[in-house]
Amino acid sequence: MSTVIVWFRKELRIHDNEALVKALKQHEAIIPFYCFEETEFGTTKFGFEKTGAFRAQFLIESVQNLKDNLQKLGSDLVVRKGNTAEQIARFTAEVEVSKIYAFKDIHKEEVAVQDKVEQLNILIDYSFGSALYHVKDLPHPIEDTPQVFTQFRKGVEKKSSVRAIFQTPEKLPTVGPNIDLGTIPKVEDFGLIEQPIDERAAIMAKGGEDEALKRLQHYFFETEELSYYKQKRNGLIGSNYSSKLSLWLWNGCISPRQIYWGVKRYEKEVKSNQSTYWLIFELIWRDYFKFISLKYGNKIFCQKGIKNKVYKWSVDQKKFGQWARGRTGVPFVDANMRELNQTGFMSNRGRQNVASFLTNELEIDWRMGAEYFESKLIDYDVASNYGNWMYNAGVGNDPRDRYFNIILQAKRYDEKGKFVKIWLPELAKFGADTVHHPWTKQEDLFGKPELDYPAPLVEPEYWKKHY
Ligand SMILES: Cc1cc2nc3c(=O)[nH]c(=O)nc-3n(C[C@H](O)[C@H](O)[C@H](O)COP(=O)(O)OP(=O)(O)OC[C@H]3O[C@@H](n4cnc5c(N)ncnc54)[C@H](O)[C@@H]3O)c2cc1C
Repeated sequence: MSTVIVWFRKELRIHDNEALVKALKQHEAIIPFYCFEETEFGTTKFGFEKTGAFRAQFLIESVQNLKDNLQKLGSDLVVRKGNTAEQIARFTAEVEVSKIYAFKDIHKEEVAVQDKVEQLNILIDYSFGSALYHVKDLPHPIEDTPQVFTQFRKGVEKKSSVRAIFQTPEKLPTVGPNIDLGTIPKVEDFGLIEQPIDERAAIMAKGGEDEALKRLQHYFFETEELSYYKQKRNGLIGSNYSSKLSLWLWNGCISPRQIYWGVKRYEKEVKSNQSTYWLIFELIWRDYFKFISLKYGNKIFCQKGIKNKVYKWSVDQKKFGQWARGRTGVPFVDANMRELNQTGFMSNRGRQNVASFLTNELEIDWRMGAEYFESKLIDYDVASNYGNWMYNAGVGNDPRDRYFNIILQAKRYDEKGKFVKIWLPELAKFGADTVHHPWTKQEDLFGKPELDYPAPLVEPEYWKKHY
């Protein structure tokens, strides 16, 4: 009886898991395997931790939950840490394995890992499961992925369909008694310092498939917040202004198809409106960035982006540090950055504004911002992160101008300054009229030694008409 490995990578779930289902169909001895890959824990080019403490903790919880769920089905999870190819080589030196089932990745570092595993000369059966639309179902070859999102969306909506999800197995074969299962590491084992999520967080993110499915149930069927998604998605405070499903999508604790079919069920059983459609619309954005990454490969990491556009970028460390710490003196930027630093999450509205501020106002190399996000975000996803950063920096694939007027945005989306005051309590005494530009209240509050808040790094002329 031949033994096979199901190598879990960014699909840390038992639902809608093609690799697992395929292995189960064809083999009687299956060993689920996960390796905390060492290259995911190095430093980025600009010197940030590649995976910060929040994401590391979330990943650990996700792997623990996967192990628990596999045990419930009668199986288990072999866990290793280090160089994945070496760990698989060591494992297969002790246990004879005839095949590896895995999901194929498309990004530079992940591909480097999978290339090394391929060199082990064990047959690999790949699945593709991180996108809503299967790559084979696209209405065009990858190299013809449209330059503009709307064209891509219209194409897939008209000509492609979302596949059904794979059923969760009811039972799995046991993992042999002589197998060293290994242990799940702790955050400190990666040289990181554990950081509790600040209680002001929009959501107390916890990793794992169970949490992901619970969140979907809560946001869709318990609260029916999905019916109001389109109106509320630009919110900044609380857990329900948006789905927060990105937290579990990045490492596959939930599959995009599971969400899609959840929306379809909701539309049948509860309500179908613009909001329910809009969640799918946003998932198509996620797909778009994935397929753009696949089309352009490593170009998404280049300063000139996929547009090959040359701008003069600064690498001013001092200004960058102020941006990263939330000390630019521009409250809307600082509040969002502090939320990121203390919770590992930031709203989409916040991300757009801080990215625009860094690239358009400070003219700092967009890749520094992208790498900082990579380090801090729990939901860091290569394609969505680099795709959105390129897009905001004007080197991506959208013809529109992504210039954000921070003061106008702050007043529109945080009218009374509530969000800003959550993260910048030092501005509590400022009224709604000045909290987004406290420097204009020079005469009494601003500039006093007791106010520990800096003057703005920049003050573009065009802000002034919105004071
Ligand atoms: C500079 C910048 C960097 C970003 N980096 C990431 C990242 O690393 N990982 C990530 O998942 N998203 C990223 N986003 C996209 C977006 O901000 C997040 O997906 C969203 O805020 C997650 O919250 P949510 O799940 O509540 O989203 P919802 O509004 O509930 O949307 C549902 C889902 O749609 C997808 N989605 C929504 N907006 C986008 C978008 N603009 N691009 C791609 N997918 C989208 C996400 O998968 C999200 O979970 C980035 C956006 C910007 C502007």
